[in-house]
Amino acid sequence: MQMIALTHALFGLLLALLFDVNPIIVMIFSLVPDIEFILPTFHRGPLHSPLLLAPFILFSYFYEKRFGLAILIGLVSHLFLDFLTPQGLPIFYPFSKFYLSLHFTWNTNALNWFIIVLCVVLIARKARTQLYY
Ligand SMILES: [Zn+2]
Repeated sequence: MQMIALTHALFGLLLALLFDVNPIIVMIFSLVPDIEFILPTFHRGPLHSPLLLAPFILFSYFYEKRFGLAILIGLVSHLFLDFLTPQGLPIFYPFSKFYLSLHFTWNTNALNWFIIVLCVVLIARKARTQLYY
C-alpha cells in the first residue's frame, strides 16, 4: 500500500490554505510525482528525487514567486508524505538508488486514513475561521 492520490491532494490543499497560495496549482503538483505510474519507469524513481526536482522548483520560483511557491509546496508535500512510508524516497537519485525513509509507520493504509481525516478536520476548521472572521 502506498500513499493515495486523495491523501496527497488533501494534504496539498491544507498546505495551500495555510501558506495562502493557489490551491489548484498546489493540488496538481502534489500529484505530479506519481505520474511515474503511467510512465515506463518505476514508481518512486526520478520524479521522487529531491535532487532532480530542485532545479525545476528553483526555476519556477525565480520565474514567478507565488506560482513557484505553489509548485514547491505541492511537490515537497508529496515527497514528505512518501518519505513517511516504509518505501521511502530515492534521495540521491540519479547518483544512487538508495531509498531513505522515516519509517513513520509500517501501516501505510492507516497513515492514509489518519492524514485524510486530519486534513478534512483542519480544512473545515480553517474554512470556518475564514467565514466568521
Ligand atoms: Zn509518490
